[in-house]
Amino acid sequence: MQITVKYLKKINYSNYLCIKNSMNNIFSNTEVAFSLKSDSELERAYFLFRLIKSEPLVKIGTAVTKFALKSSLPVEGLIRSTVFDHFCGGVTEEDCMPTIDKMYTKNVHSVLDYSVEGKEIESQFDHVMNKTLKLINFVKEIDAIPFAVFKPTGFGRFALYQKISESKKLTPSEKEEWDKVVLRYEKVAKASHEKDIPLLIDAEESWMQNAADELIESLMEKYNKEKVIVFGTLQLYRHDRLDYLKQLYQRAKIKGFKIGMKLVRGAYLEKERERAIEFGYKDPICKNKSDTDKNYNEVMQYMFDNLEDMAIFNGTHNEESSSLFMKLIDRSNYLRTDSRLWFGQLYGMSDNISYNIAKEGFNVAKYLPFGPVKDVMPYLIRRAEENTSVAGQTNRELELIRAEKKRRKN
Ligand SMILES: Cc1cc2nc3c(=O)[nH]c(=O)nc-3n(C[C@H](O)[C@H](O)[C@H](O)COP(=O)(O)OP(=O)(O)OC[C@H]3O[C@@H](n4cnc5c(N)ncnc54)[C@H](O)[C@@H]3O)c2cc1C
Repeated sequence: MQITVKYLKKINYSNYLCIKNSMNNIFSNTEVAFSLKSDSELERAYFLFRLIKSEPLVKIGTAVTKFALKSSLPVEGLIRSTVFDHFCGGVTEEDCMPTIDKMYTKNVHSVLDYSVEGKEIESQFDHVMNKTLKLINFVKEIDAIPFAVFKPTGFGRFALYQKISESKKLTPSEKEEWDKVVLRYEKVAKASHEKDIPLLIDAEESWMQNAADELIESLMEKYNKEKVIVFGTLQLYRHDRLDYLKQLYQRAKIKGFKIGMKLVRGAYLEKERERAIEFGYKDPICKNKSDTDKNYNEVMQYMFDNLEDMAIFNGTHNEESSSLFMKLIDRSNYLRTDSRLWFGQLYGMSDNISYNIAKEGFNVAKYLPFGPVKDVMPYLIRRAEENTSVAGQTNRELELIRAEKKRRKN
């Protein structure tokens, strides 16, 4: 028992040191970080992160919420006033405008992300595509929104991507279905190209991602001749991504196109590990967190070294990776506002990174999810789970909010 207590004390102390170190860097300016948050919004964020920190609470809360929504119990109001309003911009794109305008006063851009997930029917895929096309038109007029975005499974069935990724033969009707998926990608990329709005395409589970990657590469080949319009996503918890990128670059040089990549660590860690064990194949994920971090920073450096042919959207809440990116830019001849260099965070998370970097004049954009409350629940649950499993991040959020509350009181 004594050993356990000692051990816990040690962990808490090193956590404390981590937080203390992070409080001494550029990201520690809480006045800048929370300049758009009222006192009550700050209190709500504090309450929320304290809840999310507890794994059992998140598990119970998720189950109860799913049940309540399924049974049409009146919980939408409660979800809206807590987790939804913290992590989302609203139900419609118009709802998001006040938030977008407010963030832009601090040089923080927005990426409107229609975050409806889990509906696997053709009419829904067409709906998401039309929504994305509408957004591309909508954002054309708005400097605060420099990108469009969609998720592969927003445009087609997961199982279909998986079947293609596993090189299995499609039935004639599946072939027809896939042609429609390809057409959706093509329509959206063409519109992005015509309107000159770069398009970010998210990455999902590794066992469906090859099909999406191949499709994205064909769009890069078509639309990234002069500059990057189409961005894929590299999940750097996957140990094979640097090799993949190097091979892609070889093909890009031969065919004459540029590569755009959003870099992220990856949001499906547990699922990936569990599946690899269940089906007995080699775990596609790096051995541990520090290998993922190393992989992330190496790929960032590789892309930066080849920036003549590439563009980077750094989707991370990690302070070290963000600092490294800032250093790379400042040590080079590139401007902080170079359109090929972006920092990205999710709305409701890591404002200390977004607002402090934006204040320094770098390009920053926050993903701003929106959609009907019920339909964005999978996204919200992922955020809650991510904040639970990445305990360090939640501790950091809490510590920063505490510091800001104290600063305001004084
Ligand atoms: C703008 C933006 C866009 C995003 N788009 C996508 C997307 O398209 N697809 C997607 O999957 N995710 C996406 N994400 C989510 C992203 O993957 C998570 O936010 C991210 O994993 C959290 O990591 P971090 O870089 O913020 O840093 P950290 O908090 O330092 O890292 C946490 C991450 O490290 C990895 N990790 C943790 N423990 C281990 C371990 N033991 N072994 C190996 N790796 C470990 C995991 O990926 C974990 O999520 C996006 C995030 C942002 C900010």
